[in-house]
Parts: sequence; structure tokens; C-alpha cells
Amino acid sequence: MIVVENLHKHFGGFHAVDGASLQIEKGTITGLIGPNGAGKTTLFNVIAGVLPPTSGRVTMDGEDITGLPPHELFGKGLLRTFQIAHEFHSMTVRENLMMVPAGQTGETLWNTWFGRKRIADEERALRAKADEVLEFLTISHLADEKAGNMSGGQKKLLELGRTMMVDAKIVFLDEVGAGVNRTLLMTIGDTILQLNKERGYTFVVIEHDMDFIGKICGPVICMAEGKKLAEGSLEEIKSNEQVIEAYLGT
Ligand code: ADP
Repeated sequence: MIVVENLHKHFGGFHAVDGASLQIEKGTITGLIGPNGAGKTTLFNVIAGVLPPTSGRVTMDGEDITGLPPHELFGKGLLRTFQIAHEFHSMTVRENLMMVPAGQTGETLWNTWFGRKRIADEERALRAKADEVLEFLTISHLADEKAGNMSGGQKKLLELGRTMMVDAKIVFLDEVGAGVNRTLLMTIGDTILQLNKERGYTFVVIEHDMDFIGKICGPVICMAEGKKLAEGSLEEIKSNEQVIEAYLGT
């Protein structure tokens, strides 16, 4: 589904991504691991259009998507989750979900004057969809809560929920486990598995928690020094000598 070819991202003279080549198969939940500074987040940011690459190519289903801006990738169903921005903390959980779909009718002046009924219909539909997503995530009881009052793990669920408001095909998740308690982390894992099985989402997941990786991911790609070092099942990766060396070297 995604093919990354000889991708480079340099910051001045520093090569954060240094000739990475890898593939993500449709329908998989691929784990991306590697020591700190390996270039995982930078790779995500380049694929998702947040940072322009220095060189190299990224294709999605055969189409060149190198350097496309995030909103265009969003339209193609490629999403990278982001922490709920601070300015959205004072909005409710439901409102945060309703914000997501692009091109809402209410946005243009024309519609403000002539499309009142349509706006009302669209808002009702959006609200119903948001409520469905909240039910799926088992956090319906938080619908009217301010997003800023959610726990770290609940915010991660909301981030996942935002991907469900659009027709996502492939979702890049950066450290969903950071600062999340174990029980909630496993719930997030179940949600990812369910989205993968029932809605056909492909996932690429950066995560340090190997239990979490083991529970949801296959295959696993290990990066070091800006490129792919190894790929295989978690067991294969864990016993790979180059991988062990890369982790010990940090
Ligand atoms: P990982 O996610 O594997 O920990 P990162 O992609 O975050 O690795 O970082 C890879 C390297 O690139 C790190 O050494 C980091 O300091 C550097 N880096 C990341 N972003 C920038 C930036 N905007 N400017 C300069 N260096 C950066």
C-alpha cells in the first residue's frame, strides 16, 4: 500500500532519515520500533506531509504522494494522529469529533445565507456520527465533558476517534502508549485491532511497549540511524543481532 524508496530527511548536516526504504502491506498493523533518535517520528512526518523530504519517494497504491500536504493526504485516507491541540481542550469531546470532517457546509458565506436547513441537517448527521464513534470507543459518557478534562489514555482514544470521523485507509500512530496506564493501553490495542478487522484500516504504529507491539502488530520493522535495519515477526526482531546491537549502542 505504501512504498518508501530511498527516503532522506536532513536537518542541516544531520541525516535524521538516511536512505530509508520500506513497504507497508495493506491490511496490516505494522509496528515501527528502534532506539531513540532512529528517525521513526521524522519518517512519519515526511510520509504524512508534515515535513518535506530532502529526497526519495513515497507512493500510496502506486500513486506518487511524495511531499503532498497533509490535507491532500487526508483526502486520500492517509492520516497521522496528533495530540489534541491545547486550543481544543475547552471544547467538549463530541465537539472535537465534529470538527474533523473537511468541507463542512457551514464554512462558506454562501451557505451561511442560503443553506441554513442544509447546515442543520449536516450538523445532525455529524453529531450522530460522533455519537456512534463515542459508543464504539466506549466513552459515550464523556461526550459532553471538556476534552481537557480527559485522562491521557482517554485523549488517545479521542485521537483514534478522530480518524473514524473520516474515511481513513491508513493511520500512522506515534506512541499511543506514552503516559497511558496499562489497562487503557490494552483497550486502545483492542480498538486498533477492531478498526483493523472490522473497518479494514491499515496501521503503522510507533511504540516502545513491546507487550503492546506483540499484542497488535505483525510485521515489525526496526529502524536505526535513519534506515530500516530489520523486518519480521516481533520474535525474529528481538533475536536479531543487529537489532540487539542497535539498542545496546544507545
Ligand atoms: P525517533 O522518533 O526514532 O526517536 P526522531 O525522528 O524523533 O527519532 O529523531 C531523529 C533525529 O533527528 C534525532 O537525533 C533528532 O534530534 C533529530 N531531529 C528531529 N527533528 C529535528 C529537527 N526539526 N531539527 C533538527 N534535528 C531534528
